[in-house]
Amino acid sequence: MIQDSVLGPHQEILTARATDKKILDKSQDGGIVTALLVYALEKNIIDGTVVAGPGKEPWKPEPMVATTKKDILKSAGTKYTMCPNVALIKEATRGYGLEKIGTVGTPCQVMGIRKMQTYPLGARHVTDKIALVLGIYCMENFPYDSLKTFIQDKAGTTPDKVTKMDISKGKLFIRTADDETAIPIKQTHGYEQSGCQYCLDYVAELSDVSCGSVGAKPGWSTIIKRTDKGASLIDSAIEDGVLEVTETNEGKFGLEMLRKLSKNKKTQRQKNIDKKLDMGLQIPFTHSKFKEDILENR
Ligand code: SF4
Repeated sequence: MIQDSVLGPHQEILTARATDKKILDKSQDGGIVTALLVYALEKNIIDGTVVAGPGKEPWKPEPMVATTKKDILKSAGTKYTMCPNVALIKEATRGYGLEKIGTVGTPCQVMGIRKMQTYPLGARHVTDKIALVLGIYCMENFPYDSLKTFIQDKAGTTPDKVTKMDISKGKLFIRTADDETAIPIKQTHGYEQSGCQYCLDYVAELSDVSCGSVGAKPGWSTIIKRTDKGASLIDSAIEDGVLEVTETNEGKFGLEMLRKLSKNKKTQRQKNIDKKLDMGLQIPFTHSKFKEDILENR
């Protein structure tokens, strides 16, 4: 295990993408999360998964329990607004009877799941059924009203006409069938959830496997193998041809970029935390004691 203060504990970093064209067409970047959840389901590593499914309003996801490839595919693609997946984990065991649950979340959601597993108060007979936790990179996230502002006021369209949203090269891209608007990320500051201002984790350091587009060429993803469980899932997915691997760019637009963003997030957000603490206020969810306990217990 490599102990890395910037990218979190991990075993290996590689660049890969799904081989299933159907998954690639529906997914963001390399389609890793969708491919891994489908693969874990087919290999009986999980018997279902909590994912961000389609909601009543376009681009406003709602958590759903998926037990088939078809349902997992409904959740493919990044939505850029919060979806409370963690809230459905208990229901996935009680209401759906799942014994081996998979899930995917932002770094804060992964931390919530790990806290629940470390201190299972109110979640007995639930946490032992969490079989796989995938994490996605996250710099900030937006309330749905902020997203609507970007779509309506800045891109001049409506959520139902948006076909894809994507953050890359310092811009938020909003695409429709015949247009594309690029909003500089600097212009989105102030619209994010307030809690994101105190979040130190960019790369889901407590997940089994984390992934995202940063550090990889277009259409591919950078994957961080973390736990033994995560590493073994990735290895067998590669061996079975579910994922294909390409050379990892260690340079300025590759892993250097990933490390830079993760380090910058920690530095900037720590300043925000220190400021709050100086004011005598608490920042409970980033308390380092939780992280130490979680890492000790897994
Ligand atoms: S920046 Fe942090 S708190 Fe905000 S959504 Fe991402 S992981 Fe969660």
